[in-house]
Amino acid sequence: SNLLKINNLHVNVDDKEILKGLNLEINKGEIHVLMGPNGAGKSTLSYALMGHPRYKVTDGEMIFEGEVINELRADERAKRGIFLSFQHPEEVQGITVENFLKAAKSSQTGQLVKVIEFKRELLNKMSKLEMSPEYAKRYLNFGFSGGEKKKNEILQMAILNPKLIILDETDSGLDVDAIRIVSKGVNEFKSKDASILIITHHIKILDYLKPDFVHVLVDGRIVTTGDFKLAVEIQEKGYDAVKALAN
Ligand code: ADP
Ligand code: MG
Ligand code: MG
Repeated sequence: SNLLKINNLHVNVDDKEILKGLNLEINKGEIHVLMGPNGAGKSTLSYALMGHPRYKVTDGEMIFEGEVINELRADERAKRGIFLSFQHPEEVQGITVENFLKAAKSSQTGQLVKVIEFKRELLNKMSKLEMSPEYAKRYLNFGFSGGEKKKNEILQMAILNPKLIILDETDSGLDVDAIRIVSKGVNEFKSKDASILIITHHIKILDYLKPDFVHVLVDGRIVTTGDFKLAVEIQEKGYDAVKALAN
């Protein structure tokens, strides 16, 4: 059944129109890939979905589980199950991984976290991700390698159980082992019927995460949709052929 429906979405960044009538529908349990040349508006779409205040929706609507979310704050969208994984997660001095996740969980559920249960769940999920327990006490992302930051985001997802996961170039700069671990972590959500929107330039991650649809965004609109073969074709031939579709 339908999870997300985006109708005729127009988004401005600093008064410049970036998304120009974007349509996209994602059903539960589907994996969608979004490709497109630099500057097409891919990150703008992920920030607009997450409710970043700088990204102003000027027309159209984003409907999540039947509810128009245009006016909801970022934390309200997170509560409903939308999760955005950034290309460059922030380093936060002074907040440990454990305390950050505890706060995120309690903000999501609106209830205080039961400390002992939470700790057990956390250690259990960390061990599945092959993360040493000492990471729980480290400051969030501080001095973490690229691969460790990504594992940490997968851990965050495992704790929050989102319904829609947006991975914005989350595979950029990762080595093949890190891509495999991230993919393995993300695949577990697919089995829980979560939907995944992957923004990427590289088809390596698609060896592990089999997409149902591949969309190409050019100049603020999705100009073509296909399956895995479309991603392979773009990887081989570049964006020139699809750019022509934008005119
Ligand atoms: P993509 O992720 O597809 O590379 P973006 O969504 O990041 O594209 O950017 C789309 C366009 O919006 C680009 O022309 C970019 O320069 C512009 N843009 C993005 N973010 C901002 C911003 N914060 N301020 C001004 N312009 C921006
Ligand atoms: Mg870019
Ligand atoms: Mg981007």
